[in-house]
Amino acid sequence: MPLQFVVMEKEVDVTKVVKQHLEMEQFFSGFALKGKAVPPEPKHQEDNMADAEKAAELEKIAEEVRQCRKCPLGSLRTNAVPGEGNPNARIMFIGEGPGADEDAQGRPFVGRAGQLLDKVIAAMGLKRSEVFIGNILKCRPPENRDPRADEIIHCLPYLQRQIEIINPEIIVALGAHAAKTLLNTTKPIGQLRGQFHEYYAGLGKPPIKLMPTYHTAYLLRNYSPENRRKVWEDMKKVLTELDLPIPEHSTG
Ligand code: URA
Repeated sequence: MPLQFVVMEKEVDVTKVVKQHLEMEQFFSGFALKGKAVPPEPKHQEDNMADAEKAAELEKIAEEVRQCRKCPLGSLRTNAVPGEGNPNARIMFIGEGPGADEDAQGRPFVGRAGQLLDKVIAAMGLKRSEVFIGNILKCRPPENRDPRADEIIHCLPYLQRQIEIINPEIIVALGAHAAKTLLNTTKPIGQLRGQFHEYYAGLGKPPIKLMPTYHTAYLLRNYSPENRRKVWEDMKKVLTELDLPIPEHSTG
């Protein structure tokens, strides 16, 4: 019996299971129409939540995350990591899930990969406090293993609600897990990165531009000028899209 379980576990293709789940959900809520069934409302009507109201809604989600026991990770964590940042952020950076440092502090991207993300954000001429940083999973998978399908399925609605409230102009998906989950695709990150895709926030809502790029943890593990250049090229596209200046010191 245990052997059978192991074999079954091995055969599960996480991306495929999550993709099927999302497609089913989207189909039944009309998302399969890719948000085009109802003409999108102008952004100023969409985004009329006051700052304080947005902050309060985000804190409500953070509190739900801290109480969450929907999957086994809820009882394995030290701290949940709901995400943090500016409720009015123009950019949301989304990673895979907390590591050991994040689990210890309850804050996203505070370990080595986080320090590199801070440098990327600074190179863009931005401050960490100007953006929002979150994850697909809000609790650390043991030994930093890859997220499982059931964990993503239970956790994703928190992020979807955060995106809906913040309503950023651009989402930067850091790494394969974030990009594949948010775009509901099985394509590899190497094929996805470098161009804008569309994240569908819900029926009748205008899609949000999503730029996949390599995860900073991947950059640390596979450091090369070429990989660093690719991430910087992706971030320059983000700045250009937002009409923000490209800092001269970061020539990548
Ligand atoms: N890696 C992630 O994907 N998220 C974090 O918060 C930290 C490291």
